[in-house]
Amino acid sequence: MNRATVTLESQELSKTYYSTDPPTEVLRGVDLTVRAGEFLVIMGASGSGKSTLLYSLSGMDRPTSGSVALQGRQLESLSDTEMSNIRLTRMGFVFQQPHFLSNLDVRDNILLPALKGAPKDQRAAAIARVDALMERFGIAHIAGHGITQVSGGQLQRASICRALAGEPLVLFADEPTGALDSSMSGEVMDALTDVHRDGTTIVMVTHDPAVAVRGDRVIYLRDGVLVESRELGTWNAESAGRREDKLLEWLRKLGF
Ligand code: ADP
Ligand code: MG
Repeated sequence: MNRATVTLESQELSKTYYSTDPPTEVLRGVDLTVRAGEFLVIMGASGSGKSTLLYSLSGMDRPTSGSVALQGRQLESLSDTEMSNIRLTRMGFVFQQPHFLSNLDVRDNILLPALKGAPKDQRAAAIARVDALMERFGIAHIAGHGITQVSGGQLQRASICRALAGEPLVLFADEPTGALDSSMSGEVMDALTDVHRDGTTIVMVTHDPAVAVRGDRVIYLRDGVLVESRELGTWNAESAGRREDKLLEWLRKLGF
């Protein structure tokens, strides 16, 4: 593959916890290439190592061995300061729970990390970007609401705005719809599909096949081993049902 088309690459990625007896091998030699602009979905049973893989790929967690490269730059050779700088400027994160501060309104929660990272002369631009994102994802009207006054779907769209405020190269999402009902889950996935269409690379963990069909490709982890990978092609609403049927069939064969 042409190097310029690769955003993220792992080689022989392993993670073992030695605090248990016997040691827990959570990731076992994962080789993975994420293409520029790809929407990659990580699936697997609970405990198969999905979150650990996501955190290792994003440098939030240090692997025991193996390597991860972001646009050709090896993450394991970076200091903690360099790594956190890359996370701030090149990566965005969406988790199952948005972890917003209850004493700030929705907009200030989104703005907080963007302003923290921005030099003084770029603050106005960061604020304008956040307001445009809130407009785009249909939450501008709840900007001044407290975080307990809005729905889970709105909160998760707010966390997508927060993740995009720094214009990341890669958006990492760990079960972004895990705490939502299917209607709110659809809202959030529409937002992520939009982000993907804009060219942002996405790496997302989910256990929900209806959510996974939004991806371009699904990989399947079993006991920390990447056992299968399936290309789905570009998602569109018309083929959603058929895609889900095929994906379910594939997942069943894998014992999901
Ligand atoms: P998933 O996201 O697929 O549910 P995780 O990546 O969260 O799986 O966890 C994979 C495995 O790693 C689990 O079996 C979990 O118990 C184990 N694990 C996670 N953290 C630790 C730790 N600090 N010490 C020992 N085992 C751990
Ligand atoms: Mg997990």
